Amino acid sequence: AKRREAENVVIFPFMAQGHILPFLSLALHIEERFGFTVTFVNTPLNIKTLKPSLPPHSTINLVSLPFSSSDHGLPPNTENTHLVSHPLIFRFFHATLSLKPSFHNLLSHLTQLHGYPPICIISDMFFGWTVDVAADLGIPHAIFNAGGAYGMAVYFSLWLNLPHLRSNSTEFSLPDFPEVSNIHLTQISPFLLGADGTDDWSIFLQEQLSLSFKSDALLFNSVEALDQTGSKYFRRKLGGRVWTIGPIRTKLKQEKGRNQDFCVEWLNNHEPCSVLYISFGSQSTISASQMMQLAMALEASGKNFIWVVRPPIGYDMNSEFKAEEWLPEGFEDRMRKINRGLLVRKWAPQMEILSHRSTCAFLSHCGWNSVMESLSHGVPIIGWPLDAEQFYNSKLLEEEVGVCVEVARGTSCEISHEHIREEIELVMCDGENNRGKEIRRRACEFKDILLDAIRDEEGYRGPSVKAMDEFFDMVLSMKTKTKSLGL
Ligand code: UDP
Repeated sequence: AKRREAENVVIFPFMAQGHILPFLSLALHIEERFGFTVTFVNTPLNIKTLKPSLPPHSTINLVSLPFSSSDHGLPPNTENTHLVSHPLIFRFFHATLSLKPSFHNLLSHLTQLHGYPPICIISDMFFGWTVDVAADLGIPHAIFNAGGAYGMAVYFSLWLNLPHLRSNSTEFSLPDFPEVSNIHLTQISPFLLGADGTDDWSIFLQEQLSLSFKSDALLFNSVEALDQTGSKYFRRKLGGRVWTIGPIRTKLKQEKGRNQDFCVEWLNNHEPCSVLYISFGSQSTISASQMMQLAMALEASGKNFIWVVRPPIGYDMNSEFKAEEWLPEGFEDRMRKINRGLLVRKWAPQMEILSHRSTCAFLSHCGWNSVMESLSHGVPIIGWPLDAEQFYNSKLLEEEVGVCVEVARGTSCEISHEHIREEIELVMCDGENNRGKEIRRRACEFKDILLDAIRDEEGYRGPSVKAMDEFFDMVLSMKTKTKSLGL
Protein backbone atom coordinates (compact mmCIF):
# COMPACT_ATOMS: atom_id res chain seq x y z
CA ALA A 1 0.00 0.00 0.00
CA LYS A 2 0.98 3.64 -0.49
CA ARG A 3 2.67 4.96 2.65
CA ARG A 4 0.41 7.17 4.75
CA GLU A 5 2.92 8.31 7.31
CA ALA A 6 0.71 10.98 8.82
CA GLU A 7 -1.67 8.32 10.10
CA ASN A 8 -0.28 6.56 13.12
CA VAL A 9 -1.90 3.44 14.62
CA VAL A 10 -0.77 2.53 18.14
CA ILE A 11 -0.89 -1.17 18.98
CA PHE A 12 -0.54 -2.36 22.58
CA PRO A 13 -1.01 -6.04 23.56
CA PHE A 14 -1.02 -7.64 26.99
CA MET A 15 2.38 -9.02 28.03
CA ALA A 16 1.98 -12.68 27.04
CA GLN A 17 3.30 -14.51 23.96
CA GLY A 18 -0.24 -15.61 22.99
CA HIS A 19 -1.19 -11.91 22.80
CA ILE A 20 2.02 -10.25 21.55
CA LEU A 21 2.51 -12.47 18.49
CA PRO A 22 -1.03 -12.20 17.03
CA PHE A 23 -0.97 -8.43 17.69
CA LEU A 24 2.34 -8.21 15.82
CA SER A 25 0.84 -10.16 12.89
CA LEU A 26 -2.07 -7.71 12.93
CA ALA A 27 0.37 -4.76 13.03
CA LEU A 28 2.20 -6.07 9.96
CA HIS A 29 -1.07 -6.64 8.16
CA ILE A 30 -2.21 -3.06 8.86
CA GLU A 31 1.13 -1.67 7.74
CA GLU A 32 1.05 -3.63 4.49
CA ARG A 33 -2.58 -3.09 3.56
CA PHE A 34 -3.08 0.54 4.60
CA GLY A 35 0.45 1.98 4.64
CA PHE A 36 -0.18 3.63 8.02
CA THR A 37 2.66 4.28 10.43
CA VAL A 38 2.43 1.62 13.12
CA THR A 39 3.73 2.07 16.66
CA PHE A 40 3.93 -1.20 18.57
CA VAL A 41 4.12 -0.75 22.32
CA ASN A 42 5.24 -3.09 25.09
CA THR A 43 7.72 -3.41 27.93
CA PRO A 44 11.48 -3.37 27.22
CA LEU A 45 12.30 -7.08 27.35
CA ASN A 46 9.31 -8.03 25.18
CA ILE A 47 10.14 -5.35 22.63
CA LYS A 48 13.77 -6.48 22.50
CA THR A 49 12.82 -9.97 21.31
CA LEU A 50 10.53 -8.78 18.49
CA LYS A 51 12.92 -7.13 16.03
CA PRO A 52 14.21 -10.42 14.55
CA SER A 53 10.61 -11.61 13.87
CA LEU A 54 9.84 -8.64 11.61
CA PRO A 55 10.48 -8.89 7.87
CA PRO A 56 13.28 -6.53 6.71
CA HIS A 57 10.92 -4.21 4.78
CA SER A 58 8.77 -3.47 7.85
CA THR A 59 9.00 0.02 9.33
CA ILE A 60 6.93 -0.72 12.44
CA ASN A 61 8.18 1.40 15.35
CA LEU A 62 8.85 -0.78 18.37
CA VAL A 63 8.46 1.33 21.51
CA SER A 64 9.16 0.36 25.14
CA LEU A 65 7.34 1.62 28.20
CA PRO A 66 9.37 1.49 31.41
CA PHE A 67 8.42 -1.43 33.67
CA SER A 68 10.27 -2.68 36.70
CA SER A 69 8.83 -5.97 37.90
CA SER A 70 10.70 -5.84 41.21
CA ASP A 71 8.76 -2.68 42.14
CA HIS A 72 5.69 -4.95 42.24
CA GLY A 73 7.11 -7.77 44.34
CA LEU A 74 7.98 -9.86 41.28
CA PRO A 75 11.39 -11.34 40.45
CA PRO A 76 13.55 -9.01 38.32
CA ASN A 77 12.93 -9.07 34.54
CA THR A 78 9.47 -10.60 34.83
CA GLU A 79 7.74 -9.05 31.82
CA ASN A 80 5.85 -11.95 30.27
CA THR A 81 3.33 -14.44 31.68
CA HIS A 82 5.44 -17.44 30.72
CA LEU A 83 8.08 -16.25 33.20
CA VAL A 84 5.68 -15.94 36.12
CA SER A 85 5.27 -18.74 38.64
CA HIS A 86 1.69 -19.72 39.38
CA PRO A 87 1.31 -18.07 42.83
CA LEU A 88 2.53 -14.73 41.44
CA ILE A 89 0.34 -14.56 38.37
CA PHE A 90 -2.26 -12.24 39.87
CA ARG A 91 0.46 -9.88 41.07
CA PHE A 92 1.74 -9.77 37.48
CA PHE A 93 -1.69 -8.91 36.05
CA HIS A 94 -2.17 -6.24 38.68
CA ALA A 95 1.29 -4.75 38.03
CA THR A 96 0.30 -4.01 34.41
CA LEU A 97 -2.06 -1.27 35.71
CA SER A 98 1.07 0.72 36.57
CA LEU A 99 1.71 1.25 32.83
CA LYS A 100 -1.16 3.76 32.62
CA PRO A 101 0.78 7.04 33.20
CA SER A 102 3.63 6.10 30.86
CA PHE A 103 1.20 5.02 28.14
CA HIS A 104 -0.61 8.34 28.51
CA ASN A 105 2.73 10.19 28.23
CA LEU A 106 3.73 8.21 25.17
CA LEU A 107 0.52 9.19 23.36
CA SER A 108 0.99 12.87 24.26
CA HIS A 109 4.58 12.62 23.07
CA LEU A 110 3.55 11.04 19.73
CA THR A 111 0.94 13.76 19.28
CA GLN A 112 3.54 16.48 19.81
CA LEU A 113 6.08 14.75 17.60
CA HIS A 114 3.74 14.43 14.62
CA GLY A 115 1.68 17.52 15.28
CA TYR A 116 -1.54 15.43 15.45
CA PRO A 117 -2.75 12.49 17.57
CA PRO A 118 -2.60 8.84 16.48
CA ILE A 119 -5.66 7.82 14.42
CA CYS A 120 -6.43 5.00 16.85
CA ILE A 121 -5.23 2.75 19.63
CA ILE A 122 -5.69 -1.00 19.28
CA SER A 123 -5.25 -2.63 22.65
CA ASP A 124 -6.08 -5.72 24.69
CA MET A 125 -9.10 -6.85 26.74
CA PHE A 126 -6.82 -7.22 29.78
CA PHE A 127 -5.87 -3.56 29.28
CA GLY A 128 -9.43 -2.22 29.51
CA TRP A 129 -7.93 0.85 31.24
CA THR A 130 -6.53 2.02 27.88
CA VAL A 131 -10.14 2.97 27.02
CA ASP A 132 -9.92 5.72 29.68
CA VAL A 133 -6.57 6.95 28.36
CA ALA A 134 -7.93 7.10 24.79
CA ALA A 135 -11.08 8.93 25.90
CA ASP A 136 -9.00 11.43 27.85
CA LEU A 137 -6.96 12.27 24.75
CA GLY A 138 -9.86 12.03 22.25
CA ILE A 139 -8.28 9.15 20.33
CA PRO A 140 -10.50 6.37 18.86
CA HIS A 141 -9.96 3.04 20.65
CA ALA A 142 -10.42 -0.59 19.67
CA ILE A 143 -9.82 -3.91 21.34
CA PHE A 144 -8.37 -6.74 19.30
CA ASN A 145 -8.96 -10.29 20.41
CA ALA A 146 -6.96 -13.14 18.92
CA GLY A 147 -9.72 -15.56 19.96
CA GLY A 148 -13.15 -16.23 18.51
CA ALA A 149 -16.18 -14.10 19.39
CA TYR A 150 -18.33 -16.99 20.68
CA GLY A 151 -15.72 -18.33 23.11
CA MET A 152 -14.95 -14.82 24.29
CA ALA A 153 -18.62 -13.95 24.70
CA VAL A 154 -19.17 -16.91 27.02
CA TYR A 155 -15.96 -16.05 28.90
CA PHE A 156 -17.06 -12.40 29.34
CA SER A 157 -20.55 -13.43 30.36
CA LEU A 158 -19.25 -15.89 32.97
CA TRP A 159 -16.91 -13.35 34.56
CA LEU A 160 -19.51 -10.61 34.55
CA ASN A 161 -22.25 -12.75 36.11
CA LEU A 162 -20.57 -14.26 39.18
CA PRO A 163 -20.86 -16.36 41.26
CA HIS A 164 -21.81 -19.62 39.55
CA LEU A 165 -22.01 -21.92 42.52
CA ARG A 166 -25.37 -20.54 43.66
CA SER A 167 -27.34 -23.76 43.45
CA ASN A 168 -26.76 -27.48 43.28
CA SER A 169 -27.55 -27.51 39.62
CA THR A 170 -24.84 -28.79 37.30
CA GLU A 171 -26.05 -26.72 34.37
CA PHE A 172 -27.03 -23.12 34.03
CA SER A 173 -27.91 -20.50 31.47
CA LEU A 174 -26.13 -17.21 30.87
CA PRO A 175 -28.41 -14.29 31.77
CA ASP A 176 -27.06 -11.89 29.13
CA PHE A 177 -26.39 -14.48 26.43
CA PRO A 178 -29.64 -16.39 25.86
CA GLU A 179 -28.55 -17.55 22.39
CA VAL A 180 -26.28 -20.25 23.84
CA SER A 181 -27.57 -23.50 25.28
CA ASN A 182 -26.82 -24.29 28.92
CA ILE A 183 -23.25 -24.41 30.14
CA HIS A 184 -22.27 -27.44 32.20
CA LEU A 185 -20.15 -27.19 35.35
CA THR A 186 -17.43 -29.26 33.66
CA GLN A 187 -17.12 -26.49 31.08
CA ILE A 188 -16.02 -23.92 33.63
CA SER A 189 -12.42 -23.92 34.76
CA PRO A 190 -12.00 -24.46 38.54
CA PHE A 191 -10.39 -21.04 38.69
CA LEU A 192 -13.55 -19.32 37.44
CA LEU A 193 -15.80 -21.56 39.54
CA GLY A 194 -13.94 -20.45 42.66
CA ALA A 195 -14.44 -16.76 41.90
CA ASP A 196 -17.31 -15.08 43.75
CA GLY A 197 -17.17 -11.48 42.54
CA THR A 198 -15.31 -10.14 45.58
CA ASP A 199 -11.89 -11.78 45.22
CA ASP A 200 -8.87 -10.09 43.55
CA TRP A 201 -9.32 -11.81 40.19
CA SER A 202 -13.03 -11.01 39.98
CA ILE A 203 -12.45 -7.36 40.79
CA PHE A 204 -9.61 -6.99 38.29
CA LEU A 205 -11.23 -8.87 35.42
CA GLN A 206 -14.72 -7.45 35.89
CA GLU A 207 -13.29 -3.96 35.71
CA GLN A 208 -11.09 -4.57 32.64
CA LEU A 209 -13.75 -6.55 30.74
CA SER A 210 -16.49 -4.00 31.47
CA LEU A 211 -14.23 -1.22 30.25
CA SER A 212 -13.85 -3.17 26.97
CA PHE A 213 -17.56 -2.59 26.34
CA LYS A 214 -16.85 1.15 26.36
CA SER A 215 -14.31 0.86 23.56
CA ASP A 216 -15.22 2.25 20.13
CA ALA A 217 -14.76 -1.14 18.47
CA LEU A 218 -13.98 -4.80 18.95
CA LEU A 219 -11.98 -6.82 16.43
CA PHE A 220 -11.80 -10.62 16.36
CA ASN A 221 -9.46 -12.97 14.55
CA SER A 222 -12.41 -14.87 13.15
CA VAL A 223 -14.87 -14.94 10.26
CA GLU A 224 -18.51 -13.87 10.42
CA ALA A 225 -19.83 -17.17 9.00
CA LEU A 226 -18.30 -19.04 11.94
CA ASP A 227 -19.00 -16.55 14.66
CA GLN A 228 -22.39 -14.86 14.21
CA THR A 229 -23.71 -15.78 17.65
CA GLY A 230 -20.67 -14.44 19.50
CA SER A 231 -20.56 -11.29 17.38
CA LYS A 232 -24.23 -10.70 18.18
CA TYR A 233 -23.45 -10.75 21.92
CA PHE A 234 -20.72 -8.13 21.58
CA ARG A 235 -22.73 -5.99 19.12
CA ARG A 236 -25.45 -5.84 21.77
CA LYS A 237 -22.91 -4.68 24.36
CA LEU A 238 -21.17 -2.11 22.17
CA GLY A 239 -24.12 -1.01 20.03
CA GLY A 240 -22.64 -2.46 16.80
CA ARG A 241 -18.98 -1.75 15.98
CA VAL A 242 -17.80 -5.36 16.13
CA TRP A 243 -15.77 -6.73 13.21
CA THR A 244 -14.45 -10.20 12.43
CA ILE A 245 -11.23 -9.63 10.49
CA GLY A 246 -9.59 -13.09 10.38
CA PRO A 247 -7.99 -15.37 9.73
CA ILE A 248 -4.95 -13.13 10.06
CA ARG A 249 -2.10 -14.89 8.29
CA THR A 250 1.18 -14.44 10.04
CA LYS A 251 4.05 -12.98 8.06
CA LEU A 252 6.41 -13.10 11.02
CA LYS A 253 9.72 -14.81 10.38
CA GLN A 254 9.67 -18.26 11.92
CA GLU A 255 12.50 -20.68 12.32
CA LYS A 256 12.16 -24.02 10.64
CA GLY A 257 11.39 -26.38 13.55
CA ARG A 258 13.60 -29.33 14.26
CA ASN A 259 10.92 -31.92 13.44
CA GLN A 260 9.74 -30.32 10.22
CA ASP A 261 11.36 -32.40 7.47
CA PHE A 262 10.94 -35.58 9.43
CA CYS A 263 7.15 -35.17 9.91
CA VAL A 264 6.54 -34.15 6.30
CA GLU A 265 8.54 -37.11 5.03
CA TRP A 266 6.58 -39.43 7.30
CA LEU A 267 3.29 -38.02 5.96
CA ASN A 268 4.53 -38.37 2.36
CA ASN A 269 4.74 -42.10 3.01
CA HIS A 270 1.10 -42.44 4.01
CA GLU A 271 -2.17 -42.61 2.11
CA PRO A 272 -4.19 -39.42 1.52
CA CYS A 273 -6.60 -38.63 4.35
CA SER A 274 -5.39 -41.45 6.60
CA VAL A 275 -3.59 -39.73 9.49
CA LEU A 276 -4.92 -38.36 12.78
CA TYR A 277 -2.90 -35.41 14.14
CA ILE A 278 -2.99 -35.00 17.93
CA SER A 279 -1.81 -31.88 19.74
CA PHE A 280 -2.85 -29.92 22.82
CA GLY A 281 -1.39 -26.57 21.77
CA SER A 282 1.82 -24.85 22.75
CA GLN A 283 1.81 -25.55 26.48
CA SER A 284 -0.93 -27.92 27.63
CA THR A 285 -0.90 -31.60 28.45
CA ILE A 286 -3.28 -34.27 29.78
CA SER A 287 -3.05 -36.61 32.78
CA ALA A 288 -1.00 -39.81 32.82
CA SER A 289 -4.09 -42.05 32.93
CA GLN A 290 -5.73 -40.13 30.05
CA MET A 291 -2.52 -40.50 28.05
CA MET A 292 -2.55 -44.25 28.61
CA GLN A 293 -6.18 -44.53 27.42
CA LEU A 294 -5.50 -42.38 24.36
CA ALA A 295 -2.55 -44.59 23.36
CA MET A 296 -4.69 -47.73 23.77
CA ALA A 297 -7.43 -46.16 21.65
CA LEU A 298 -4.96 -45.26 18.91
CA GLU A 299 -3.56 -48.76 18.81
CA ALA A 300 -7.01 -50.36 18.71
CA SER A 301 -8.34 -47.96 16.06
CA GLY A 302 -5.78 -49.07 13.49
CA LYS A 303 -5.48 -45.45 12.33
CA ASN A 304 -2.22 -43.70 11.48
CA PHE A 305 -1.26 -40.85 13.77
CA ILE A 306 1.20 -38.10 14.64
CA TRP A 307 1.01 -37.27 18.34
CA VAL A 308 2.81 -34.31 19.91
CA VAL A 309 3.69 -35.59 23.38
CA ARG A 310 4.70 -33.78 26.56
CA PRO A 311 5.09 -35.14 30.10
CA PRO A 312 1.69 -35.56 31.76
CA ILE A 313 0.16 -33.25 34.37
CA GLY A 314 2.21 -33.16 37.55
CA TYR A 315 5.59 -33.67 35.85
CA ASP A 316 8.10 -31.03 34.81
CA MET A 317 7.02 -29.96 31.33
CA ASN A 318 10.61 -29.49 30.26
CA SER A 319 11.73 -32.94 31.34
CA GLU A 320 12.22 -35.79 28.89
CA PHE A 321 9.13 -37.66 27.67
CA LYS A 322 9.28 -41.23 28.99
CA ALA A 323 7.22 -43.39 26.64
CA GLU A 324 8.07 -46.57 28.62
CA GLU A 325 6.62 -45.04 31.76
CA TRP A 326 3.55 -43.17 30.53
CA LEU A 327 2.37 -45.28 27.58
CA PRO A 328 1.53 -48.98 27.22
CA GLU A 329 4.59 -51.24 27.25
CA GLY A 330 6.40 -51.26 23.91
CA PHE A 331 3.83 -48.87 22.35
CA GLU A 332 6.25 -46.51 20.64
CA ASP A 333 8.40 -49.30 19.17
CA ARG A 334 5.39 -51.27 17.94
CA MET A 335 3.92 -48.20 16.24
CA ARG A 336 7.26 -47.29 14.69
CA LYS A 337 7.93 -50.78 13.35
CA ILE A 338 4.68 -50.98 11.41
CA ASN A 339 4.91 -47.31 10.39
CA ARG A 340 1.58 -46.64 12.13
CA GLY A 341 2.32 -43.75 14.41
CA LEU A 342 4.84 -41.09 15.22
CA LEU A 343 5.42 -39.60 18.67
CA VAL A 344 6.86 -36.10 18.33
CA ARG A 345 8.45 -34.60 21.44
CA LYS A 346 7.09 -31.18 22.54
CA TRP A 347 6.65 -29.38 19.19
CA ALA A 348 5.51 -30.30 15.69
CA PRO A 349 5.26 -28.25 12.48
CA GLN A 350 1.49 -27.87 12.82
CA MET A 351 0.82 -25.86 9.67
CA GLU A 352 2.79 -28.30 7.52
CA ILE A 353 0.92 -31.24 9.06
CA LEU A 354 -2.54 -29.70 8.67
CA SER A 355 -1.87 -28.70 5.07
CA HIS A 356 -0.62 -32.18 4.12
CA ARG A 357 -3.00 -34.31 2.07
CA SER A 358 -2.39 -37.36 4.30
CA THR A 359 -3.91 -35.61 7.32
CA CYS A 360 -7.57 -36.52 7.89
CA ALA A 361 -8.54 -35.17 11.33
CA PHE A 362 -7.14 -33.19 14.26
CA LEU A 363 -7.59 -34.20 17.90
CA SER A 364 -7.17 -30.75 19.43
CA HIS A 365 -7.57 -28.82 22.68
CA CYS A 366 -9.49 -26.26 20.57
CA GLY A 367 -7.18 -23.30 21.18
CA TRP A 368 -8.41 -20.69 18.71
CA ASN A 369 -5.25 -20.67 16.56
CA SER A 370 -5.47 -24.42 16.16
CA VAL A 371 -9.16 -24.12 15.25
CA MET A 372 -8.51 -21.51 12.56
CA GLU A 373 -5.51 -23.41 11.20
CA SER A 374 -7.44 -26.68 11.06
CA LEU A 375 -10.48 -25.21 9.31
CA SER A 376 -8.26 -23.20 6.93
CA HIS A 377 -7.12 -26.60 5.65
CA GLY A 378 -10.54 -28.29 5.78
CA VAL A 379 -9.50 -30.64 8.60
CA PRO A 380 -12.34 -31.68 10.99
CA ILE A 381 -11.74 -31.61 14.75
CA ILE A 382 -12.04 -34.13 17.55
CA GLY A 383 -12.32 -31.75 20.49
CA TRP A 384 -10.66 -32.24 23.86
CA PRO A 385 -10.83 -28.78 25.44
CA LEU A 386 -8.68 -28.39 28.55
CA ASP A 387 -9.16 -24.89 29.90
CA ALA A 388 -10.63 -21.37 29.68
CA GLU A 389 -12.58 -20.56 26.50
CA GLN A 390 -11.45 -23.79 24.77
CA PHE A 391 -14.60 -25.40 26.23
CA TYR A 392 -16.78 -22.89 24.38
CA ASN A 393 -14.78 -23.11 21.16
CA SER A 394 -15.43 -26.85 21.18
CA LYS A 395 -19.13 -26.25 21.98
CA LEU A 396 -19.46 -23.79 19.09
CA LEU A 397 -17.72 -26.11 16.62
CA GLU A 398 -19.84 -29.09 17.62
CA GLU A 399 -23.25 -27.52 18.20
CA GLU A 400 -23.36 -24.66 15.71
CA VAL A 401 -20.73 -25.26 13.07
CA GLY A 402 -20.84 -29.05 12.74
CA VAL A 403 -17.12 -29.61 12.17
CA CYS A 404 -16.27 -31.24 15.51
CA VAL A 405 -17.07 -34.06 17.90
CA GLU A 406 -16.06 -33.50 21.51
CA VAL A 407 -14.36 -36.58 22.93
CA ALA A 408 -13.43 -35.41 26.44
CA ARG A 409 -13.24 -32.36 28.68
CA GLY A 410 -10.45 -31.22 31.01
CA THR A 411 -7.57 -33.08 32.60
CA SER A 412 -9.40 -34.73 35.48
CA CYS A 413 -12.16 -36.57 33.64
CA GLU A 414 -11.98 -40.34 33.48
CA ILE A 415 -12.06 -41.51 29.93
CA SER A 416 -12.04 -44.99 28.42
CA HIS A 417 -10.05 -46.08 25.40
CA GLU A 418 -13.23 -47.62 23.91
CA HIS A 419 -14.94 -44.23 23.94
CA ILE A 420 -11.96 -42.42 22.39
CA ARG A 421 -11.68 -45.10 19.70
CA GLU A 422 -15.38 -44.75 18.83
CA GLU A 423 -15.09 -40.98 18.42
CA ILE A 424 -11.93 -41.27 16.30
CA GLU A 425 -13.71 -43.76 14.05
CA LEU A 426 -16.81 -41.61 13.92
CA VAL A 427 -14.87 -38.68 12.47
CA MET A 428 -12.34 -40.55 10.33
CA CYS A 429 -14.71 -43.20 8.91
CA ASP A 430 -18.15 -42.67 7.42
CA GLY A 431 -19.78 -43.69 10.71
CA GLU A 432 -23.37 -44.12 11.74
CA ASN A 433 -25.79 -42.19 9.48
CA ASN A 434 -22.76 -40.89 7.59
CA ARG A 435 -22.06 -38.42 10.42
CA GLY A 436 -18.29 -38.59 9.84
CA LYS A 437 -18.75 -37.87 6.16
CA GLU A 438 -20.94 -34.87 6.97
CA ILE A 439 -18.43 -33.49 9.50
CA ARG A 440 -15.60 -33.81 6.98
CA ARG A 441 -17.74 -32.18 4.30
CA ARG A 442 -18.55 -29.24 6.59
CA ALA A 443 -14.87 -28.79 7.42
CA CYS A 444 -14.09 -28.60 3.68
CA GLU A 445 -16.86 -26.05 3.26
CA PHE A 446 -15.23 -23.89 5.93
CA LYS A 447 -11.88 -24.13 4.19
CA ASP A 448 -13.47 -22.25 1.27
CA ILE A 449 -15.25 -19.81 3.59
CA LEU A 450 -12.01 -18.94 5.41
CA LEU A 451 -10.06 -18.56 2.19
CA ASP A 452 -12.79 -16.38 0.68
CA ALA A 453 -12.95 -14.17 3.80
CA ILE A 454 -9.45 -12.82 3.17
CA ARG A 455 -9.51 -12.75 -0.65
CA ASP A 456 -8.46 -9.31 -1.76
CA GLU A 457 -8.41 -8.91 -5.51
CA GLU A 458 -9.28 -6.43 -8.17
CA GLY A 459 -13.08 -6.11 -7.95
CA TYR A 460 -13.53 -8.46 -4.98
CA ARG A 461 -12.98 -8.08 -1.26
CA GLY A 462 -13.82 -10.98 1.06
CA PRO A 463 -15.94 -10.31 4.18
CA SER A 464 -12.97 -10.02 6.55
CA VAL A 465 -11.15 -7.63 4.20
CA LYS A 466 -14.28 -5.47 3.99
CA ALA A 467 -14.66 -5.62 7.78
CA MET A 468 -11.15 -4.27 8.31
CA ASP A 469 -11.74 -1.51 5.73
CA GLU A 470 -15.01 -0.58 7.45
CA PHE A 471 -13.25 -0.39 10.80
CA PHE A 472 -10.64 2.05 9.49
CA ASP A 473 -13.34 4.05 7.64
CA MET A 474 -15.02 4.50 11.01
CA VAL A 475 -11.76 5.46 12.71
CA LEU A 476 -10.89 8.02 10.04
CA SER A 477 -14.39 9.51 10.14
CA MET A 478 -14.06 9.91 13.91
CA LYS A 479 -10.82 11.79 13.32
CA THR A 480 -12.53 14.11 10.85
CA LYS A 481 -15.23 14.86 13.39
CA THR A 482 -12.65 15.69 16.04
CA LYS A 483 -10.93 18.02 13.58
CA SER A 484 -14.07 19.81 12.51
CA LEU A 485 -14.79 20.46 16.18
CA GLY A 486 -11.46 22.24 16.26
CA LEU A 487 -9.94 19.72 18.69
N1 UDP B 1 1.87 -25.10 17.54
C1 UDP B 1 2.79 -25.71 16.69
N2 UDP B 1 3.30 -26.93 17.04
C2 UDP B 1 2.96 -27.58 18.18
C3 UDP B 1 2.02 -26.96 19.04
C4 UDP B 1 1.49 -25.72 18.69
O1 UDP B 1 3.13 -25.17 15.64
O2 UDP B 1 3.47 -28.67 18.43
C5 UDP B 1 1.32 -23.77 17.17
C6 UDP B 1 -0.01 -23.91 16.47
O3 UDP B 1 0.17 -23.98 15.06
C7 UDP B 1 -0.75 -22.66 16.91
C8 UDP B 1 -0.17 -22.34 18.28
O4 UDP B 1 1.07 -23.03 18.35
O5 UDP B 1 -0.49 -21.59 16.03
C9 UDP B 1 -1.08 -22.81 19.41
O6 UDP B 1 -2.09 -21.88 19.59
P1 UDP B 1 -3.52 -22.30 20.14
O7 UDP B 1 -4.34 -21.05 20.19
O8 UDP B 1 -4.09 -23.39 19.35
O9 UDP B 1 -3.27 -22.88 21.58
P2 UDP B 1 -2.45 -22.37 22.86
O10 UDP B 1 -1.04 -22.78 22.66
O11 UDP B 1 -2.62 -20.87 22.91
O12 UDP B 1 -3.10 -23.09 24.00
